[in-house]
Amino acid sequence: MNDHIVKKSVENKVFENGTIDGYTVAAIDGTKFFGSNKKSCPACLKNTKGQKTHCFHSGAVMSTVGNGPKLVIGFEMYKPGQDPSSKDEGELNVGKRLISSILKRHKKLIDVVVYDALACNSVWINHCRNLGIDTVVRAKNNNNKSLRFIKKKTNKSVEVEVWEDEREFEKVEVYESTFTMDNVEQPLRFVKSS
Ligand SMILES: [Zn+2]
Repeated sequence: MNDHIVKKSVENKVFENGTIDGYTVAAIDGTKFFGSNKKSCPACLKNTKGQKTHCFHSGAVMSTVGNGPKLVIGFEMYKPGQDPSSKDEGELNVGKRLISSILKRHKKLIDVVVYDALACNSVWINHCRNLGIDTVVRAKNNNNKSLRFIKKKTNKSVEVEVWEDEREFEKVEVYESTFTMDNVEQPLRFVKSS
């Protein structure tokens, strides 16, 4: 049903002008859909604390962000561990599966995908590059050497832009630099706001 809604929105040119500055921007986040201490099924994820096992279902969801309707583009469920000793699937893996399947179904719908700090690594960035899509991720604290270095360098730089609201209640200074991350071929842009 959701796929049909997305297809119809594309047909009706809902996102023709993009959602932010002419780009169609979508964001991914993980969420828990259902959980129980009593009911369970074979596809449940499990969280055991002492004697109690909590059974639940989680997934990663992608939605457009910015101007216009916030349309859910797709979702992907976490897969449970194959046996009691193996771990349930991690969120980054689910996110990768989600964006791959969405781009297969809705070609050219999304220009930029936004994700939180758990995607601040070469695995995610290369995955998006290979799919031909731009990505914005939140920088993780002290994630790696190159990030620590670029944070310091950017802190000493001059602002490239100042965003101000009409009544000057709020003022945001924007700083940026370019850097390279291990295992990522292309240079990346680091943006920081005050
Ligand atoms: Zn279940």
